[in-house]
Amino acid sequence: MSAGSFASLDGKLALVTGGSRGIGRAIALELGRAGAQVVLSYRSGREEAEAVAAEIGGRAVEADVSDSASAKALVDETGELDILVNNAGLTRDGVLARMSDDDWHEVLETNLSSIFYTCRAAARPMMKRRAGAIVNVSSIVGLRGNWGQTNYAASKAGIIGFTKSLARELGSRNVRANVVAPGYVRTRLTDVIPEDATKTMLAATPLGRLGEPEEVAGAVRFLCAEEAAFVTGAVLLVDGGLGM
Ligand code: NAP
Repeated sequence: MSAGSFASLDGKLALVTGGSRGIGRAIALELGRAGAQVVLSYRSGREEAEAVAAEIGGRAVEADVSDSASAKALVDETGELDILVNNAGLTRDGVLARMSDDDWHEVLETNLSSIFYTCRAAARPMMKRRAGAIVNVSSIVGLRGNWGQTNYAASKAGIIGFTKSLARELGSRNVRANVVAPGYVRTRLTDVIPEDATKTMLAATPLGRLGEPEEVAGAVRFLCAEEAAFVTGAVLLVDGGLGM
């Protein structure tokens, strides 16, 4: 591989869930700039998603990935996927004693069941073609836990176990499955974190700052590309050192 072809994704078809904003937006742009043909999904942010798609000549598709049928249709209609990035996610924070069933189920369905739905739909065609790269976006919270986030931590820890199992199942067919676990990254999701909680977190982060969505996107691109051909079942922390 020459330096000129570094991380090229020319000719690859990629699906990025939750690509309308934040980290998913940065991932879609990064894969598009690396040469991939990108389909990005959104649930409510149509205008934002279409703007991202326009920037890279991609396509924005509405889908609720927490719904089994919608997630399957998204994958099936995208076409023969080379790359699947499961990024869509949300938080519904609250201490356990006061957490509603709805907040538990919405987070588990959106963050974890969605990945089961999309990977199940994508795995068979990838296995048949003996090629494919899956990247699932977890979180440092899935490794360390966090006050007020039992639902979110469970979903993000689940992604790690799920992905490692998938890597074992698909490896013999040359399909790779990896996790990127971001620390605290500047997006709408983290805008709502109270200032004192942010200060505490930054104090525990060796690099002493929040991450940027583009910094997560670079790690995802690496895991999708030929440079990572021998990497599967890995959990790549992109967290300023918070999780070590
Ligand atoms: P964000 O700005 O809130 O973006 C979330 C994205 O997910 C949006 O595109 C949203 O689409 C989409 N989405 C949510 N529910 C969906 C559903 N049911 N079906 C389809 N799409 C759905 O969040 P972010 O910070 O970029 O987070 C992206 C991922 O990184 C999440 O999995 C999050 O847990 C993870 N993460 C973030 C951080 C951080 O510090 N920001 C740290 C660790 C991990 P619509 O806008 O169209 O609804």
